Order: sequence, then structure tokens, then C-alpha cells
Amino acid sequence: MEIRIGNGYDVHALAEGLPMWLGGVRIPSETGFVAHSDGDVAIHALCDALLGALALGDIGHLFPDTSDEWKGVDSKILLAKVVAILEEKGWRVGNADITIALQRPKLAPHILSMRETLAGVMGIPADAVSVKATTTERLGFVGRCEGCEVWATALVLRD
Ligand code: MG
Repeated sequence: MEIRIGNGYDVHALAEGLPMWLGGVRIPSETGFVAHSDGDVAIHALCDALLGALALGDIGHLFPDTSDEWKGVDSKILLAKVVAILEEKGWRVGNADITIALQRPKLAPHILSMRETLAGVMGIPADAVSVKATTTERLGFVGRCEGCEVWATALVLRD
């Protein structure tokens, strides 16, 4: 069996009055992410980890933010497309681990829902998808509630 690993990183700015989509889930919040797509920064980092595992570039070149095709797009659609690209090449997702840095709102009530949602899109069990959340103790742009930062790691497998 071949095993490859990839990492992904993404940041989106927060602004008042926008919907907050994170890990494929709508999070009740007074602020949301400024973006060309739905701004799901966790899915974007996950997509980049999956693409990175196979040295296939990043979602910015697959789904350019200059294209109207991807304006306001549900990022779950982007994730499904990335998984389809992997599968075309004979790969499947092994597991993924995602760390979200966000000052507020608290994400604990939504972690399980994110794991189940992302696992569903990738066609793998929820226990193969880890989502962890942390604040930055009020330090930096995350701590000032100016944005959200996400790191993702993913393993892909081919028999
Ligand atoms: Mg992004």
C-alpha cells in the first residue's frame, strides 16, 4: 500500500453580519468569514492538505477566486471535487486532523457535527476525522477576533 501525507493552512478575515460556515456546518455567530466562496476556512485547509499529499497544488488554482463559477460556493462542493480528483488517481482518504484557531464563538458544541459532516463528504467514518479548536488566549489577529486560522493534515492511501 502507498501512503502519502499532506498539510494545509488557511486564514479568513471575520466581519460582522456574514454567515459563519466552518467544517461544513453553519455556526451561530455575529461575525462570519470574508471570502469569495462561503469562506469555510476549515474545508479550505483540508482541501489543501489532500491536494498537498499528492503534490496537486492548492484550491486557489483549482477553484480561482476570480471565477464567478465559485462565487459564494458551498465549500463542501469543493471538498467533494478534491476527493473525486484523488479517487480518479486511485487514492482514498485515510484520515484527517484539523486544528481551528478562533477566539469566539466557542466551537465545542459543533465539533461532532463538523466531524460527521466532513466525513460524510469524504466518504470515510467520522472516527477518521478529527476536528480540534483552540483560542489563542486573546493574542494576535485571532485573539483580536479579526480572523480565523486553520491547519489540516491528511493521509491518503492507495492499494
Ligand atoms: Mg480560503
